Amino acid sequence: MSTSPAANINPGTTPGTTADTASRYVIEQRCRSCGHGSLDLVLDLGRVPLANNLLRTADEPHPRFPLSLAFCPGCSLVQIRETVEPEVLFGHYLYFSSFSQAMLAHAKGEAEMLIRRRNLTRDSLVVEVASNDGYLLKNFVAAGIGVLGIEPARNIAEVASRNGIPTRCEFFGRDVGQRLAREGVRADCVLGNNVLAHVADLNGFVAGAAAMLKPTGVAVFEFPYLGDMIEHAEFDTIYHEHLCYFSLTAINALFARHGLIVSDVERIAVHGGSLRVFAEPAGASPVVAPAVASLLAHERQTGMTTGAFYARFAQRVRDLCDALVRDLRTRKAAGQKLAAYGASAKGSTLMNFAGIDATLLDFICDLSTAKQGHFAPGNALAIVSPDVLRDPALRPDALVLLSWNWAREIARQQRAYLDGGGEFIVPIPHLHTISAANLEALDRSAAPVGPSGPLAARA
Ligand SMILES: [Zn+2]
Repeated sequence: MSTSPAANINPGTTPGTTADTASRYVIEQRCRSCGHGSLDLVLDLGRVPLANNLLRTADEPHPRFPLSLAFCPGCSLVQIRETVEPEVLFGHYLYFSSFSQAMLAHAKGEAEMLIRRRNLTRDSLVVEVASNDGYLLKNFVAAGIGVLGIEPARNIAEVASRNGIPTRCEFFGRDVGQRLAREGVRADCVLGNNVLAHVADLNGFVAGAAAMLKPTGVAVFEFPYLGDMIEHAEFDTIYHEHLCYFSLTAINALFARHGLIVSDVERIAVHGGSLRVFAEPAGASPVVAPAVASLLAHERQTGMTTGAFYARFAQRVRDLCDALVRDLRTRKAAGQKLAAYGASAKGSTLMNFAGIDATLLDFICDLSTAKQGHFAPGNALAIVSPDVLRDPALRPDALVLLSWNWAREIARQQRAYLDGGGEFIVPIPHLHTISAANLEALDRSAAPVGPSGPLAARA
């Protein structure tokens, strides 16, 4: 998982873009993967501020950029059309170094699975792109397996090196992959977790990964799954940092272009539903697991490979936002005090698209002391400590839960607020509430592994 996805976005623009230097973004005219010249608009989110660009003062000027989701009829890739310059996108980046226990356990499980499945030994080499502080690679090191991390953020690469994870500080792409291959890097596994969605030059990135693979090697990528985003109406994961939203169909086409065959796929619970995809050099004629054909067929049958499918998604998103705003207005009219919980990037997309402002909400609570004292981009709501929930003068009757992916953890942390009659309004995947009365039922429900780590802290 990349802490600083900035570093994995190729700062160059792709051919076929219109530059707007004044606004420091480009609108891609062609598919980011196959180059198809006519993309279908799925959802226009309007001009919105950068989701992670928290403000230092309520009146700090902050730029807005267009944000629109599009579908490629050529290769089925869902993508945003706007590419904001990395220096602008990440200029106000707050860095969070913590990984949750759940995420560390997930990384350990992935390493153990690969060691077993690929018979990795002391002679093997595992390369991870966007390797962060080595939270994943350290599991291979512990098993005596050779590793190489590639991490673009210098401070994080230094942390990894200090912790005994050999790490190159590089901005990964075709050139770096080919250079490392020339230097003799031949990987049994190339790993990339939660990095593909941030990559502007997709083809260069995959070509670079393919260049470092042994003929018998495997590339393993994890990324949030478009199917889950659509099924659960998780439209708030759309923001400028997330350039692509992958189906297996789109990944399959991308990898095939670089001589890689998708040999297996797993659906995993992280980040609201993700895919773990295994890809191997076509020259090795890898055995392809039945799960691949099965998921590709599922995507065809549900319509994920056609534009009409996404029109229904867009309507559902509009309905969901309308229902939320109606509910908030009704509560407000009844004299309720309202606020939000979780100053997340997701929340920024939701509030800006739905038009939720200071006329409806008083403030946003967030546990992160790094975010407290800042203001949300767009509606400039103050970000405050959840301690205010204990103050009778400030305590809202209900809180819109912007970090719905952490619903259970937050509900447990704020048990006293709920026991005092407070409510969480959860907007996604459908409008519902969490109160002391239904908390036990929530605890019993199936638990997806929440996202975590730096991306998640912001997600
Ligand atoms: Zn395409």
